[in-house]
Amino acid sequence: MAIMADAVVVGSGPNGLAAAVTLARAGLEVEVYEAGDTVGGGCRTAELTLPGFAHDVCAGAHPMASASPFFRAFDLVAHGVELLAPEVSYAHPLDGGAAGLAWRDLDRTVAGLGRDGAAWRRFFGPLAQNWQELVALAMSDTRHPPLNVMTGIRFGRRLLEQSTPLWDMRFHDDIAPAMLTGIAAHAIHPPRAFSGAGVALLLGTLAHVDGWGIPRGGSQTIMDALAADIERSGGRIVTGHRVESLDEFRDARTILLDTAPAGLLRLAGERLPARYAAQLSKVRYGGAACKVDFALSGPVPWRARDCAQAGTLHVIGTRAEAVAAEKAVAAGHHAERPYVLAIQPGVVDDSRAPQGKHAFYTYAHVPNGSDRDVSDTVVAQIERFAPGFADLILARHVRTAEQMPAYNANYVGGDISSGAMTLRQTLLRPTPRWNPYSTPLPGVYLCSASTPPGPGVHGMSGLLAAGHALRTRFGITENPLALIRKGNRAAGIERVDGGS
Ligand SMILES: Cc1cc2nc3c(=O)[nH]c(=O)nc-3n(C[C@H](O)[C@H](O)[C@H](O)COP(=O)(O)OP(=O)(O)OC[C@H]3O[C@@H](n4cnc5c(N)ncnc54)[C@H](O)[C@@H]3O)c2cc1C
Repeated sequence: MAIMADAVVVGSGPNGLAAAVTLARAGLEVEVYEAGDTVGGGCRTAELTLPGFAHDVCAGAHPMASASPFFRAFDLVAHGVELLAPEVSYAHPLDGGAAGLAWRDLDRTVAGLGRDGAAWRRFFGPLAQNWQELVALAMSDTRHPPLNVMTGIRFGRRLLEQSTPLWDMRFHDDIAPAMLTGIAAHAIHPPRAFSGAGVALLLGTLAHVDGWGIPRGGSQTIMDALAADIERSGGRIVTGHRVESLDEFRDARTILLDTAPAGLLRLAGERLPARYAAQLSKVRYGGAACKVDFALSGPVPWRARDCAQAGTLHVIGTRAEAVAAEKAVAAGHHAERPYVLAIQPGVVDDSRAPQGKHAFYTYAHVPNGSDRDVSDTVVAQIERFAPGFADLILARHVRTAEQMPAYNANYVGGDISSGAMTLRQTLLRPTPRWNPYSTPLPGVYLCSASTPPGPGVHGMSGLLAAGHALRTRFGITENPLALIRKGNRAAGIERVDGGS
């Protein structure tokens, strides 16, 4: 196949499409190649169970979609995406009918935490007030973090606290520590660690800013908005095409790979220098997810009634239980009572299921490569905090960790972070190179979640990689965020969020 484009993007996940939007806004001819039949990577929506039930196949809640500099510049709202924010960003049920509730309203959260409320305010209040600086730090390329001394100190102190034995020091009761551990566990890594603490700080802060958004109609709407924009700018998207080798694109001036390091190794073959290839093959893939989606005949009957208002729930129990479950997974075992992340989009979006019914989203943490269907264990965990849940199940759909790579090659062994969130792989993602996006092959860049700032639907890896490609291959030095805003204005799409 003769490829005439200036730029080729392999993979149409959030980062691949963010890269393509950025390149197209710079005036390049862009082509995107996607192995799946639809665009979206880890951000698709499909009828997995019964007709009329729209399930988010991977990402379901979007704390970063409204906060990331890429999406703020792109302006999802102006592109027709409705990000609905539940009043309770996340809930953490405990035995006996108690629950931690992270209301978007910090005051309400503080009020619900009793004698730990003030400590919660001291922990998250200053971060929430300065969230844009925190986002700039957390969503940087990690090699050139923005220099804001106060943000560094605020972030660093809390990071140290939550990644060391000091992590319980400011709290008296079980609920607040459980809530923090519940968010830290998004990293699928033993929670009292640098990466988990970083995730807890970022996502925990955003819970009290714009909340953890749930797109009306499903996560796919975010990807469809990006794809439509690329096509409007003259770009081409080819689905159902698994790229087997970089040789397919000999004439392209630049190639951006929205792939895991394993994908780069496969596509480049012998062309990579041995030392770099060895570094890529040493990348560790981490704990995995077994995804279980349910069609329900009614809302989940949470014992703690306010959980019914939460978009996302961390279903595991106390901090100690979460630590034990995550340690088991890291050691290659299935936890008897695993960490389950649940999302109930019906709290804000009535379009996901026939009237009165609910599309309910869960995944459980399991060891990398696990072939076990843990859906019965998931049902038991939910039942523990919502008796009667099992009676509501009309249908379920399971994708084991082992099956995940056939759906999306980036999730090696079912690792949804595309690379374990160890300290080294968080800071020096994907390999210890000064520029994390470049490769030794001229014009070939990595732009996936395997590069900084890491997993999540934020588009920043795509933006930053595209920025490097524009500078080094095309001499275009304009700030890529400015290019995106300019493209919006040229297309008559006005910014509505007023952000940076
Ligand atoms: C079960 C699950 C739940 C998650 N929940 C959330 C959540 O709630 N919120 C959140 O923010 N994040 C969540 N994530 C993480 C988020 O989905 C990812 O971090 C994000 O999608 C990464 O984007 P990406 O563009 O780097 O890669 P991906 O989204 O993984 O996309 C990569 C794309 O490249 C394609 N591809 C790969 N190799 C080739 C090839 N050789 N040829 C052609 N195409 C190729 C793949 O088919 C895929 O479409 C979740 C992930 C999973 C799996």
